[in-house]
Parts: sequence; structure tokens; C-alpha cells
Amino acid sequence: MIIILKENPDPAQLESFMAWLREKNFDIHESSGESHKILGLVGDTSSMDVDLISALDIVESVRRVQEPYKKANRKFQPEDTIIKVANTQVGGGNLTIMAGPCSVESEEQILKVARAVKASGATMLRGGAFKPRTSPYSFQGKGVEGLRLLSLAKKDTGLPIVTELMEIHQLEYFEDVDIIQIGARNMQNFNLLKEVGKQDKPILLKRGMSATIEELLMSAEYVMSEGNERVILCERGIRTFETATRNTLDLSAIPVLKKLTHLPVIIDPSHATGKADLVPSMAIAAVAAGADGVLIEVHNDPQHALCDGSQSLRPEVFDDLAKKLFKVHEVVSKF
Ligand code: PEP
Ligand code: MN
Repeated sequence: MIIILKENPDPAQLESFMAWLREKNFDIHESSGESHKILGLVGDTSSMDVDLISALDIVESVRRVQEPYKKANRKFQPEDTIIKVANTQVGGGNLTIMAGPCSVESEEQILKVARAVKASGATMLRGGAFKPRTSPYSFQGKGVEGLRLLSLAKKDTGLPIVTELMEIHQLEYFEDVDIIQIGARNMQNFNLLKEVGKQDKPILLKRGMSATIEELLMSAEYVMSEGNERVILCERGIRTFETATRNTLDLSAIPVLKKLTHLPVIIDPSHATGKADLVPSMAIAAVAAGADGVLIEVHNDPQHALCDGSQSLRPEVFDDLAKKLFKVHEVVSKF
């Protein structure tokens, strides 16, 4: 339920109203719109009398929220969420470029890629240490050693790091990680979502390959309902009948999500297409369509990459793309 308060409500009346709501054990989400304060009530509001609340002096209007997600709902918070990460931010008109290799492979590799993407203007370094691979016989990532190498690259370049968490117990190694990625395969691992909901770090939540937008938002709600409201949504392609690309990039998810939620939206054209030559056009389209950023796999030697080489850009191709992305973003920002 959403309660929109009148402008400058009487403080005493507001306090007693809030106390009454708290007594009813609602979780109250407060946000300020352009001129009005908005109270979002999470909990079972079925017994609440809308007419009674509407009749209060300080209340402008009351609406029931039909959608099952509340905290992620734009009706609860009209302004975009801006997530500060180290010296940069996700959302709020900033173009976030997360780039790096699918997997951290060696000190030489991660430093080379990190320095190159930083020089091209990437705002974050993304690399996998724990890898969710389709085959148990494929390279599974360097694990804790991979995290150590990411930290090294962070120290060297100053770029904040984004990396995937696959299991709750791995959290003990994530101290130096700036954004925790939850991969497509774990989008509905509800225990994992609840646990990262208790962490004091932003979460990059990837859309499951067969998940609807509402299911993605419900997974964000799992994280947010535990107290961590710093969730970044990532569209990374969905499964369709099409085989020309690894997945089908759902670019329409950008305007749909922008309408439904205040959370930032990042597009991953690398996993969506699976092909390096398709990545630049899809990344440009994503920024043109209003995405808050992109996630791009970059490798210094894609041919010999231990994971996802076919979709990884060489540093010089990434450099050219980054220049175009900043230009497109500048134009789109003026719309
Ligand atoms: C990844 O980001 O490296 C990854 C495995 O992606 P996804 O979870 O989207 O498949
Ligand atoms: Mn990958």
C-alpha cells in the first residue's frame, strides 16, 4: 500500500500516524517525491481501510500496490536509486562500464586487462574467480587465489571490483570485493539472495536465462527485504528458440524495468550474444535505450582464454567501443 502525504504535513499528526502504522507491524519504506512524501507499507495490508486513511488530514491519497514486489517498485520510490561504489556511482545519469575477463587466469592476465580497460575509461573491473560452468570438466575458476589477484589489480588501477559469489560460505573471502555478482543460474537461489541481503555491499543481480522480468524483480525483493537496498539489475540475454546467438538480448527490458523499478539497469551484451563481433552494436543499443551501464568481457588473448573467449573483446576493440559508448551516452543524456 502506498500513502502519499500532503505537502508539509503537520509533524505531530505525522508522528502519531507513523506510530500507529508501526504498532501494526508494517515495514515502512519512506521516500520523498518531488513535493510529496511517500510511505510504502510492506506487510499484509488487506485489513487496512483505504477510505479511513484517505480521510486523514495529512493524507493526499492512498493506493494499493498490485505488484508482488514492493521495495523494488517505482511506486514506492519515484526517484532512481543511485548506488555509490568507491569513487564512482551506478545510476543517476552516470555511465557505468564494467569490464574484464570472464575468469581471472593469472597475475599477468588480470593486470594487463585491468590496466587496459581502465585506460579506455571503464569504471569497474569485473572478473570471475568462482565460475558457474555448464560442464564440470571446464575450468572452474581460480577461487580464492582469483580474488587475491583481483585485489591486486584493484590496488594497481584503483578500479572497484565486481565478482560472482556462488555459495554463502565464500563470503568470508569477499572483504575487498566492491560489488557482489549473483549469476543468472543463482537468480532464484533464495537462501543466497537472503544472505547477500544482509551484506553491506551492492549486489549485481543477473536475470535468470528463463526468468520473467517480474521474477527478476521478486529476486531483487528478496535481497532488499533483508535490508540491502543497493541492487543493480542486469539483463544478460534470455533463452529463446533462436540459435544464431548464445541467448537473445532483451533490450526491451530496459524501458520496462525503468518503468517498474527505481533500481539501476546494466546490460551484458557479452553473455547475451556469445559473439565478440556482435557485442559493440548491442552495447551501443543498450546505452541508447537508456541503460545505466554495460558489462563487457575483455581478454588480452581471447583465443587462449580459459572461459568465454569467443565473446571477449580484445583491448583495442574495447577501447574503440568505450569511446563510442561515451559519445552515445552524452547525446542520450540530453534527450
Ligand atoms: C558471468 O557473468 O561470467 C556469467 C557466468 O554470467 P551469467 O550468470 O549471466 O551466465
Ligand atoms: Mn563469462
